[in-house]
Amino acid sequence: MTKRNYTTVNPCVMCQPMGSALAFKGIENTMVLYHGSQGCSTYMRLHLAHHFREPVDIASSSLSEKGAVYGGRENLKKGLRNVINRYNPKVIGVATTCLAETIGDDVPAIVREFKEEEGIGDDLEKDIIIVPVSTPSYGESHVSGYIKALDAIVRTFAEKPGDESAEKFPNEKLNVIPVESLSPADVRELKEVFELMAGGYIFLPDISETFDAPLREDLPKIAQGGTSLSEIADMPNSQASLGLGIVSKNLAVKYLEESHDVPGSSVPIPIGLSNTDSFFTELVKILGCPIPVKYLQERGRLLDAMVDVHKYLYGVKAAIYGDPDFVFSLTTFMLELGMNPVLIATGSKSRDFEAKIRQIVEKINPELEPLVLNGIDFDTLNDAVSQCNPEILIGNSNGRYIAKARNIPLVRVGLPIHDRVGAQRILTVGYRGAMEFLDRITNAILEATDTFTAPVQAESAAYAGKGNEECVEGMR
Ligand code: SF4
Repeated sequence: MTKRNYTTVNPCVMCQPMGSALAFKGIENTMVLYHGSQGCSTYMRLHLAHHFREPVDIASSSLSEKGAVYGGRENLKKGLRNVINRYNPKVIGVATTCLAETIGDDVPAIVREFKEEEGIGDDLEKDIIIVPVSTPSYGESHVSGYIKALDAIVRTFAEKPGDESAEKFPNEKLNVIPVESLSPADVRELKEVFELMAGGYIFLPDISETFDAPLREDLPKIAQGGTSLSEIADMPNSQASLGLGIVSKNLAVKYLEESHDVPGSSVPIPIGLSNTDSFFTELVKILGCPIPVKYLQERGRLLDAMVDVHKYLYGVKAAIYGDPDFVFSLTTFMLELGMNPVLIATGSKSRDFEAKIRQIVEKINPELEPLVLNGIDFDTLNDAVSQCNPEILIGNSNGRYIAKARNIPLVRVGLPIHDRVGAQRILTVGYRGAMEFLDRITNAILEATDTFTAPVQAESAAYAGKGNEECVEGMR
């Protein structure tokens, strides 16, 4: 593969503040303001609106040359005033962009000053809550922006009590916090599981309505839905926290554990057979209740579907790219299907990505030697695709030029999906999501058989479409 020393060409990630918007938009009555230049907000609003097909308002402090030289204090205060007057939000998430960070604006200090000037206190119930997050894009990606924003939200609403002996009010609920943004359909699917299995739960952030709202005549200024503020404040009283994703660090789960003694655990995003098995196994462990029959039936149907398509998918060479945890879970599923993921890549700079991928490949099919790339751009991905010669691409719509140039199918999943409709309804989690995704992959391959044929290979002894044996035992 060609080694390049020059700058990023077509990034395989999105800007860090955009990740913060994905988190803030899952909170009830919350507005987002980017402290930086107007273009950042315009680009990210469009990006999200094209993906979710919903209006997405993101305010901007509109820094210009003057602000860049003298600092953006006045712009930010004016922006906050405008947001309060026009949207009347309960929470304002203030995320910085590259310019605000480069000129060194101290956003928390400006926010404190603004609150003093406007007489805004710190009462979580009565006052407007302003949550600053530092998200310069030259630092990290939308993945870390999302994680940082969730951490900041939880720290604001579930602040560690000054008095160590302060009484707790156990609520018997389960906190659920994914490390990456899921689709609204995924969130709805998971909420259904928790409604059936948990006495109570708090899902943070809940974008199931805010990014996929029913049509209504009176379009609200801020989309309805989202995790309620009282629920977030109640998170320290929960019996446990469950993180979804094991590659990126789940800062909110860690904070709740370290500061509020809420035991935390993490499982992979439940995509595919064994990851969904692990998810249910963990729920059974935490909640002590059986898996509802409905999901046992779905699991059986997934196994049946895997057997049905095995002859089409076995040995098919795939390239998978996207956000680290999403790619990890998709890779596990590809391996379970007997596919050959020759190229596995993320645009995020993730410390644990390669190790986790190697572990899962070693566990399911140690004969494979995929190329694993971390922190890449699409230019590098293009080179890697030339080298690995996959027969199918699996990832967001930005890989379409590579797929088109090579005349191979692209199964669109993840974020962003701009060139097709329905991204908000793509379901990948749970047994049902696995079945839907499996159908999409298989049909894409069948449709492409005009130009290529999936190789016929002897089945490897390592083929492991078996899921989590422990979970299977429990289901008998
Ligand atoms: S890279 Fe920085 S300046 Fe450019 S759009 Fe993203 S946040 Fe804004």
